[in-house]
Amino acid sequence: MDPASGLDAVRHVGVRGGRVQALSASPLDGHRTIDATGLVVAPGFINLHWHGTQPRSNTFEAMDGVTSTFELEIGVADVDRWYDERAGRMPINYGAAVGHAPVRMRVMDDPGAFVPAGPAARQPANDAQRGQILEGIERGLQRGAVGVGFGLAYTPAASRREILDSFRVAARYKAAAYVHIRGASSAGSADREEGLLEVIAHSAVSGAPVHVAHINSSAQEAVDRLMEVIAQARGNGVDVSTEAYPYTAGMTRIESFLFDTWGDKPESEYAKLQWVATGERLTRESFHRYRRQGGFVLIHANTEARVRQAIVHPLSMIASDGFDTEPPSHPRSAGTFTRTLARYVREEQVLTLMEALRKMTIMPAQRLETRVPDMALRGRLAPGAFADIVVFDPATVHDTATYEQPARYAVGMRHVLVNGQPVVHDGAPVPDALPGLPVRAPLHQ
Ligand SMILES: [Zn+2]
Repeated sequence: MDPASGLDAVRHVGVRGGRVQALSASPLDGHRTIDATGLVVAPGFINLHWHGTQPRSNTFEAMDGVTSTFELEIGVADVDRWYDERAGRMPINYGAAVGHAPVRMRVMDDPGAFVPAGPAARQPANDAQRGQILEGIERGLQRGAVGVGFGLAYTPAASRREILDSFRVAARYKAAAYVHIRGASSAGSADREEGLLEVIAHSAVSGAPVHVAHINSSAQEAVDRLMEVIAQARGNGVDVSTEAYPYTAGMTRIESFLFDTWGDKPESEYAKLQWVATGERLTRESFHRYRRQGGFVLIHANTEARVRQAIVHPLSMIASDGFDTEPPSHPRSAGTFTRTLARYVREEQVLTLMEALRKMTIMPAQRLETRVPDMALRGRLAPGAFADIVVFDPATVHDTATYEQPARYAVGMRHVLVNGQPVVHDGAPVPDALPGLPVRAPLHQ
């Protein structure tokens, strides 16, 4: 099955030198053969939203069918270092955006881990600092960052001008902006539309395409309205896209700005929070204690009906927002793609298999390919494409990770190839298989 071409037929797939060489109706000879009788063969999945730092956690992604993964929404400050740390150590392909939030953290000396915890969240930049932020973003793009990340919900003090100027830098490098929209999260929002309208305006003015992260958690009860805004903006020529993950809980850092308004809430609100390290539900007392300590918290705020709307909408891609699996995080890190195939395709039949695969392959590839020419050869099953291939059983594929046990492999992916090399074989990870390649935009000197 190849959503890019619409091919849905029995074929023999020939792979050589890391590329697909042939799709043939008649048998092919090879040194090695995988018998895919009765199974689905499709392009490997492309995950546009990932925050892991340990290559081991990417094995959980491979077992979920992911063959290329990207740190885009938050991004990184030092692009060279991020790629250097992963070279030769990754089971799947990998890429990163330069991130407005991490660059802002560096410029403003913020002590936060992953997202701002101090001045980068809460202080406006002066002219000199704004200049340094724009330079940091431009430097990252010159070093091959695949996009520009914006955690606008985590940097409320960043001015409209600072953000628009950052979009303008992205546009000069044909890079898209990957955005957690302002004010909107699982932890609450006054007006979810406002954050979306802001980035659509920045995109329309600057010309930089914009991708809205996790519309399921950013939109919550407003998912219909926000998807309608995205569809209409696209109809009027703005290049805006979005993604969703199939879980009702979000996850973020408890010390981040998102909880600044949580000082005094009814106990029932704190009970929606689950401390990841122990699995306990929070109270007012434990909320304040853990906020001083810092760490990851699950937010049980969404409903299954809204998540389903976000997942099945024709404009949404599937992306996990996953983190490392050790220490424990969120089941989306290990089960996003297989859960979508099991729940929405097989059990509820609200998505066809081809529609689901389109959201996991060609749609994310196309989002990246104007900036990264290599991506025109991924997300497809066609001669000349990179041999990133999943072979799975559509009758049994499913996730097994839970909120209490998030580090559990998905099942049903029988074989997963990355650049022609098996990383999953007969349903199990291949030890020490590290064929993942960097996905990077052309470098400027
Ligand atoms: Zn986010």
